[in-house]
Amino acid sequence: MSQFWKPGTERPRLVDDEEGGILLYTASSSSSSGFGYGSLEKQRQRLPVYKYKTAILYSVETHATTIIVGETGSGKTTQIPQYLKEAGWAEGGRMIACTQPRRLAVQAVATRVAEEMDVKLGEEVGYTIRFEDITNEELTRVKFLTDGVLLREMMDDPLLSKYSVIMVDEAHERSLSTDILLGLLKKIQRRRPELRIIISSATIEAKSMAAFFNTRRRREEEQGPTKEPAILSVEGRGFNVEIFYVDDPVSDYVRSAVSTVMSIHDQERMGDILVFLTGQDDIDTAIQLLTEEAQSSGKQGLVSVPLYSGLPRADQDLVFSPTPRGKRKVIFSTNIAETSLTLEGIVYVVDSGFSKQRFYNPISDIENLVVAPISKASARQRAGRAGRVRPGKCFRLYTEDYFSNEMSVVGIPEIQRSNLVSCVIQLKALGIDNILGFDWPASPSPESMIRALEVLYSLGVLDDDAKLTSPTGFQVAEIPLDPLISKMILASCEFGCSEEIITIAAVLSIQSIWIPVRGVQKQLDEAKLRFAAAEGDHVTFLNVYKGFIQSNKSSKWCHKNFINYHAMRKVIEVREQLKRITQRLGIGLKSCEGDIQAVKKAITAGFFANAARLEPFSHNGMYKTLRTSQEVYIHPSSVLFRVNPKFIVYHSLVSTDRQYMRNVITIDPSWLTEAAPHFYQKQLHSSIPQ
Ligand code: ADP
Ligand code: MG
Repeated sequence: MSQFWKPGTERPRLVDDEEGGILLYTASSSSSSGFGYGSLEKQRQRLPVYKYKTAILYSVETHATTIIVGETGSGKTTQIPQYLKEAGWAEGGRMIACTQPRRLAVQAVATRVAEEMDVKLGEEVGYTIRFEDITNEELTRVKFLTDGVLLREMMDDPLLSKYSVIMVDEAHERSLSTDILLGLLKKIQRRRPELRIIISSATIEAKSMAAFFNTRRRREEEQGPTKEPAILSVEGRGFNVEIFYVDDPVSDYVRSAVSTVMSIHDQERMGDILVFLTGQDDIDTAIQLLTEEAQSSGKQGLVSVPLYSGLPRADQDLVFSPTPRGKRKVIFSTNIAETSLTLEGIVYVVDSGFSKQRFYNPISDIENLVVAPISKASARQRAGRAGRVRPGKCFRLYTEDYFSNEMSVVGIPEIQRSNLVSCVIQLKALGIDNILGFDWPASPSPESMIRALEVLYSLGVLDDDAKLTSPTGFQVAEIPLDPLISKMILASCEFGCSEEIITIAAVLSIQSIWIPVRGVQKQLDEAKLRFAAAEGDHVTFLNVYKGFIQSNKSSKWCHKNFINYHAMRKVIEVREQLKRITQRLGIGLKSCEGDIQAVKKAITAGFFANAARLEPFSHNGMYKTLRTSQEVYIHPSSVLFRVNPKFIVYHSLVSTDRQYMRNVITIDPSWLTEAAPHFYQKQLHSSIPQ
């Protein structure tokens, strides 16, 4: 119906709301029909941000940087890019970019905006996330993308010259990529005074962000937009969300979440429930518990759906699909649903108060993913998911006193608690030589930087002058994966086992391929034994993958073997993507036909920094890392648990009561010095017996 209105001209005024609405937009979409909120156009005008349209456009016109603060649901993400488009910022072949920290949000928001603009997704409105580009070079004017993807675009177009406005949304999350991006945008602005930047969020320390972007020098004659950032605060919010707290702290948030769901189902009127837990393990447990409880109490009508980042596309779609009549959907999610998403049926939110967060210690060089308390900013975002299309309720599984007095206001920026290997490699690929002197919105510790440089040097990614090596450095930078994995893939070429290694890389990108089952640990262990390889977990994964393919990718086969069918489908998906990437880099895929040593050598070439040695007289399986002599143990989920081979490399660490190594493989220590002579030179003479 959009032929009645020519894009680029002023939108016709809707004199008669009813008619106008129908004339311009067919209100047939699922999102607008169900609740009687009228046409999309009218919904748009009802959003708080609508009253600020002129103010926002004026500010963007006159200021290089505009910081917009507004409650969740006020319309920042979906509306501002459209306002910019209407005001002509996408004319003359230019584009408007809007970044999000998470892939899922990018897809969801782009879909919604295309719907509101009544255009086909991938044409005028498109999106790009890692491994998926739904844009059209000629047609796309408004583009949603992750901040990570925008960073990658800078490798080809360092000044991001095709964009007239870049909106960095949900900046309060302070993800690693957001901070790198903010630092780089500040640099770009100096070279491109006409570029406009918008930084938006519900809860953001607007003043410190403004100070960071204030590049105005005193007595400087200004041309073009003023360099002093504008701060705009959008008053008003979506629908009201009533908050409830527990009276006493809960000891088991998974159980407590499940019983809260049950009592909502008992006592509250219809409406879907969104439960925030920390990870796939929690989520699977909760779904199992809920199923059991519903069964034993004879309660019907609940449909549980998981939501986490490793989920295959089809399962992800379940989250967005309408709830069957008479049913109540319960979505168990990690914090991936915390920002930007509008899940239509959601009326109730249950917030555990925790999320999985990265913490890196540069002294021990150990990065852990630990379950940690969330910040108030996150808690508000979570509650906000309940008031998007109608009033809602949020049940917090912590006390009000805890919220008011103990919860931190905002989280620690990720850059200050992460291993910086990927970050450094990206900056290097963008030609930023003086990394220690880089202007960050929040500075990482110099120790972390130095550690990262050291690892990259030993991976052969950086040379003696700390420049990217050719081709290895550039290739590793090109592959959008953890550099250790990228290096492993490159090395597999040399060892003739790239077919096997990309399978392993795909499995490592997934949290777990096993079904965690309470109470039947023994059966699970037995199932694992069917695939277990004496060499360790990576080779075991190869056996599982082979079995899955031979079973014709059967879900029954998975079920019988305690293997997570969804995870395996995701493995296939990621593997296909890795295949394309390696082809692009000109790496031919080759199988080593069962030569396991080749596979292990390729793994070592990427992961030598994660080597550990069994303590000589240890009775409890204690290992020490070769580099920093940290005490570590093999994770009980590993096939090498209790086997305790002398030398191993591990993929990652998790810390619970101890530091546990996940996914380990036996190695010959001489491979370490082969793979990284400089790195292990000292150890060669002292601790590694030849
Ligand atoms: P903000 O970014 O300020 O949190 P958004 O622009 O994401 O707000 O969304 C504003 C409002 O638009 C939501 O509260 C909701 O009412 C509506 N909305 C957005 N996306 C959808 C959707 N997919 N389905 C239905 N309503 C939506
Ligand atoms: Mg938003």
